[in-house]
Amino acid sequence: MIEPVLKDDAFLADVAAVRASATADRLFVWWLGQSGFLICQAGDFLLFDPYLSDSLTKKYATTDKPHVRMTARVVDPARLDFVTAVTSSHTHTDHLDAETLVPLFAASRRAKLVLPAANVGVVAQRLGSAANGRLVPIADRAQANVSTFTFETVPAAHEELAPEFAGFVATAGPFRIYHSGDTVRFPGIAERLRPHRIDVALLPINGRAPERRVAGNLNGPEAAQLAHDIGARWVIPCHYDMFEFNTASPAAFIAECERVGQRHVVLRAGERWTLAHAP
Ligand SMILES: [Zn+2]
Repeated sequence: MIEPVLKDDAFLADVAAVRASATADRLFVWWLGQSGFLICQAGDFLLFDPYLSDSLTKKYATTDKPHVRMTARVVDPARLDFVTAVTSSHTHTDHLDAETLVPLFAASRRAKLVLPAANVGVVAQRLGSAANGRLVPIADRAQANVSTFTFETVPAAHEELAPEFAGFVATAGPFRIYHSGDTVRFPGIAERLRPHRIDVALLPINGRAPERRVAGNLNGPEAAQLAHDIGARWVIPCHYDMFEFNTASPAAFIAECERVGQRHVVLRAGERWTLAHAP
């Protein structure tokens, strides 16, 4: 089992220290494993696609598609009472997990869930009464404000384009973050994103493998190339090291970033990265 750089009390101590010292011109990013990221800007907290339970490992334990966890959980969602905005890019459990979101919403009474408008019914059903008053559906090209953050949904193709799949462009003070959700590359995505002048792109690298019998994503070199093509200042890879059957090494991502001159950061689970706003 891979141990997070910071987890549980140590992780929360780091979050508290950042919160106490946060200034508007710095963006703090922690990777929580899979597509989950905690973001802090000016003392406010946003959580992208958290998966902080063992629900998939339990669900598939007795099947021919076991989801053996590779990285230990970074933090109990019931302790994230400071989070005000959460995203769910689509309804696959590693991006919409009731065992993560129900305790999180119980802990953080202000937290709202940003999701593609097409998924309201499924999300409400999965979360039950925990969803009451918490959902912020966004149609393509529409925007919504949650706390100090602004969100816009962007299409995603997992592996097909559908309104049930989305990525997000989130604005946090002077920073723009692109969280792609689960997606392969599709025509027009680079053109759609380039005008947003993305500071940080958060992109999957586990690629496509039909034998896994799950919808595919960008692989490492494709993620590096997409980040380069949208003009992202930085790119961070994700969606690996969570399940043994569906992972990838970041080596090919790093090599392609270096080849195309794309600035990149490879985080370990529970690790923090700080970005200063360029003047
Ligand atoms: Zn996924």
